[in-house]
Amino acid sequence: MKKKTFNSLFWKISAVFFILLTVVGLMYIYISFGYSDNYLDEVNQRLNHDTAKNIVENSTPFYNGEVIKPALEEMFHHVRAINPSLEVYLVDPKGKIIAWYPPEKKIAMESINLKPVLLFINDSTNQFIKGDDPLNPGTQKVFSASPLTMNNMLYAYIYVVLKGQEHQVASDSVFGSYMLQLSARTMLVTLLFTLVIGLLIIRIITQNYSKILTVMQKFRQGDLTARVQLQSTGDEKQLGEMFNEMADILTTNIDKLKQVENLRRELIANVSHDLRTPIAIIRGYVETLQMKEETITAEERKRYINTVRESAEKLEKLVNELFELSKLEANQVQAKKEPFIISELVSDISSKYQLIAQTKNISISTILSKELPPVYADVSLIERVMQNLIDNAMKFTPEGGKIIIQTAQSTDNNVEITVSDNGIGIPENDREQIFARYYKANNFTDLKNSTGLGLAIAKKILDLHNSTLDLISVENSGSSFNFKLKCY
Ligand code: ADP
Repeated sequence: MKKKTFNSLFWKISAVFFILLTVVGLMYIYISFGYSDNYLDEVNQRLNHDTAKNIVENSTPFYNGEVIKPALEEMFHHVRAINPSLEVYLVDPKGKIIAWYPPEKKIAMESINLKPVLLFINDSTNQFIKGDDPLNPGTQKVFSASPLTMNNMLYAYIYVVLKGQEHQVASDSVFGSYMLQLSARTMLVTLLFTLVIGLLIIRIITQNYSKILTVMQKFRQGDLTARVQLQSTGDEKQLGEMFNEMADILTTNIDKLKQVENLRRELIANVSHDLRTPIAIIRGYVETLQMKEETITAEERKRYINTVRESAEKLEKLVNELFELSKLEANQVQAKKEPFIISELVSDISSKYQLIAQTKNISISTILSKELPPVYADVSLIERVMQNLIDNAMKFTPEGGKIIIQTAQSTDNNVEITVSDNGIGIPENDREQIFARYYKANNFTDLKNSTGLGLAIAKKILDLHNSTLDLISVENSGSSFNFKLKCY
């Protein structure tokens, strides 16, 4: 079993999940900081909205349009009394800074943008507005502002930046660290909680995948019976089922290959035995003929030569049939189908066999149904089937026996051909196997002409015609083989 590594699906998804959570957490802190800053600014502006107005109401440092210094100092004194952290600017109607408090601070801008100031003064809705900070050009701060008028004449604006630098630093550090801690803690708790729940869910989901993986590994290591068994539904189940189907196909194919391999071995063993026997006979007799050339009688010579011829014929038959069967099995033979009258073919074949039958004292007769429609098949291949069946009938029927070849219309409107004999029959145990190649039943009598391939060839040819070869046989009473051919 392969060692579990951090490379597994569970760990990968968990890592991505963890990274996502951290990113979301950091974004949360960032956003909440931005919002809390703005929130504080807004609160600050709302609370101190009227600060500038109060300053203006208390003192007016102008006389005849000119700034009066003592009055200005008094005004700033008043400001210090209210809130020493305020930054107050006296700004002319064009935005130019005329004076400021605290005076010791160095301003970095000569004038400020009046747009937000006017907006602040004229806005009745108390909208949250930010304006320039003369101490820090480029930064925007919340402020309070009020016009300074006398006899309906605008002299200047009082512009108060609500958060002074020191104050801001202090507020930042106190509030900032508080917010940071709050956010960090909230994030940590949320992160941990989500992480635990998330990991649990990921574990449940990936568990099925690791089960499938384990079964696959078992299968790979040679356990061909390993199959996935999952309770769940969905993708994992489908994956498991697909693996099971694939494994089934693989094992069936392996079994088939094993069977083919066994058959091949068997075939080689049988073929080599059957080839060796006639070769040995031929060799033996030819050697005897050579050695005893002078002493041998004419009759003996004739007998020897006959035996050699028979063995050579058997050899030829075996080689031919093997060649024929291997071509059929390799699907190299194609049926050239054409319409023909089967009864005519049967008559022809039967007359060809009459002579051999007479020598064996066997009668061959035909029962041919008239007006049969033509069949659609390969004539020479069907002739081969008939030959094999009649050869067998002749072989396994003793002298005085009877062979009948019959053609008739079958119940399913095809043409049925039957070759029957009253020979030795086929033992029940052998009936299924006789169609397998190289199988010879126990009733075997004629060693010379038997290869065990005849029925296998006939069956293969009928396969090409989508037909089957059927057997009805009674032991000691005879056998009857029949097959059907499609009509044209
Ligand atoms: P072969 O006849 O060359 O042995 P076949 O494949 O034609 O090979 O037949 C296989 C076996 O089936 C035969 O060996 C025989 O035992 C049996 N068989 C076939 N036809 C008949 C038949 N008409 N009567 C009795 N046995 C038969």
